[in-house]
Amino acid sequence: MNHSGKCRHLHGHSVKASISIKSEQLNDQAMVCDFSDVKDCVESFINQVLDHNFLVHKDDPIIPALQANNERFLAIDEHPTAEVLSKMIYQYVKQQGFNVDQVVLWETASANACYRED
Ligand SMILES: [Zn+2]
Repeated sequence: MNHSGKCRHLHGHSVKASISIKSEQLNDQAMVCDFSDVKDCVESFINQVLDHNFLVHKDDPIIPALQANNERFLAIDEHPTAEVLSKMIYQYVKQQGFNVDQVVLWETASANACYRED
């Protein structure tokens, strides 16, 4: 919404997310955590909330048309940018108990947004 470029039109992106977990010390297996634990955590969130879903700003005028056509969508408080999606993933991973350092979300091979909290 309110975008002046070609992204104002309805479209999707296949994004790639890179999630970094931090720790002061390694565990007794010499790891920060198991990669598969992070993957399992993030995969369920992505599959259930983000993948093949239509993310829209809660004030987007397209919403009534999506509802009328029984389309799957997720209305969020902010514009569904790479910045906001990386924050959503960050907050979910943190909520699941991981000491997340940052989430980088690649919208294209050359463009990414990074979310971290200090
Ligand atoms: Zn776009």
